[in-house]
Parts: sequence; C-alpha cells; structure tokens
Amino acid sequence: MPSQKPSSPEKEYIVREEAKQRELSQIKREQAEAEAAREARWRTCPGGCETKLVEEDFRDLVIDRCPTCGGVWFDPGELEKVASDDAAVVRSVFNFFRGQSN
Ligand SMILES: [Zn+2]
Repeated sequence: MPSQKPSSPEKEYIVREEAKQRELSQIKREQAEAEAAREARWRTCPGGCETKLVEEDFRDLVIDRCPTCGGVWFDPGELEKVASDDAAVVRSVFNFFRGQSN
C-alpha cells in the first residue's frame, strides 16, 4: 500500500493510466525487438552462409535468394503455389536437384 494518499481520484487515475501506458509501450518494444530478431534470423541464408537473403520477383511471388550460394528459399505455401501454377516446371526443378535431367 502506498504511504501517501493520492491527492485526488483524477490524479490517481492519471498515474494508473501512465503506468499502464508505460507497461504497454514496454511490451510493444519487446515484441518489436523479438520480431526484428526473428526476421533477421529468417532472412539470413539457412544454408549457413550467414548472408542476408535478397528478395526477387518470381512470377507473382517474392522469393528469397542468397547472393552468396545462389540458394532460393520459399516461404511456407509458396512452393505449393508455384506447383499449382505449373506442376511440370516444379517437377523439372525437383529433378534438377535430384541430379536427373528431366
Ligand atoms: Zn547461402
């Protein structure tokens, strides 16, 4: 319990609101920092290059390419979207990665 009695209910309300706002902006700041850290991890080449991925337009998608190793990374659902657009293209891509020609 506070030893000093607030001078008025209005002041008490304002003090409470300010504390709430401070707490809220602290939470928002922490969330933004966590999001930025997650984003930084996400946007770094998962192949171990520690290079920041660059975004490139591919059809109507934006894909992430590593400028160091040339790796291309799809976000969840993007590969499926490409696959549904043109299954033959995707099959040939998979075959390429498997080391088969066509
Ligand atoms: Zn890479």
